[in-house]
Parts: sequence; structure tokens; C-alpha cells
Amino acid sequence: MRRLICPYCGAEAVCVELKDGKRRWKCTTSGCDAFVGAHARSGAPLGTLANRELRLCRQSLHASFDLLWRKYKFGRTDSYQFLAVVLGVPKKKAHIGAMNLDQCFQAAYEVRIALEKFKSSRREGVAYVLGLVKGEKSGDAVSIDQPDQPDV
Ligand SMILES: [Zn+2]
Repeated sequence: MRRLICPYCGAEAVCVELKDGKRRWKCTTSGCDAFVGAHARSGAPLGTLANRELRLCRQSLHASFDLLWRKYKFGRTDSYQFLAVVLGVPKKKAHIGAMNLDQCFQAAYEVRIALEKFKSSRREGVAYVLGLVKGEKSGDAVSIDQPDQPDV
């Protein structure tokens, strides 16, 4: 089984079994409170260890991100591609369980914008997200003209 290092204290995490039979990887350093779930069959960690703050951020991001494909029926593959693009990582690395706090905040911000587009119309949401995925960052491309400085 692979080794997993706690990003908070540097100690090696251990895989433990919970009362319900599920397994999780956890840091044994007292006060660290960092863990991550384990794959039911293989026992492989489902991401990186997270403390309470990061776990809450990941859960909150997951809840809003999942609306893209659950509620608005946007393709799940495209949804993850969108996540990859906004984080600037390869798609296979666009897993919420692997995100740090900064990435969660960044992704949550982008997902919120996308959801607002979907809320006004599905067509607008799809166009917005696919536009980003294809690299047409229309919102970012607009340059803001600086007002001319008056000559003194
Ligand atoms: Zn730790």
C-alpha cells in the first residue's frame, strides 16, 4: 500500500477501519485532525489528507459543483474539464479530494459564476462553460481602459 504524508505536520498517515466498515487514511499526530477517505475495495486514498477547514471547503465545493451535472444536466466529463481549466491542471488531476484551500476557493468562485449563468438559462450556462473550456475566456479578455491622466 502506498505511503501518504500529512501535509500539515509531515507525519506518515495510517489507514484505519471505521465502525461502519469504511476505511480512511488519517494522521496520528494529536491535534492534526487530518484525514481522507479510502477506496472501498483497493483502500487507496481518495485524495490528500484534509483538516476540518479544508474538508468543509471541499464538501461545499462538491455540493455546488455537482449541481452542474446533477441539476442542470451538464455533461459530467465537461464539468470536470471545466474544473481542470479554471485550476490550470490536467483533467485527471481535477479532483476535489486533491484540492488545497486556495484551489477550493478559486474553483468555488468559478462554479458560482457558472451556476448563475445556468440559472438564467441552460443555454447561457452551457455556452459560458464550454467557452471557458475551449479557451475563450470572454470575460477575462476585455481590457479595461485606463482613464487618461490629465496633464498637470
Ligand atoms: Zn498531521
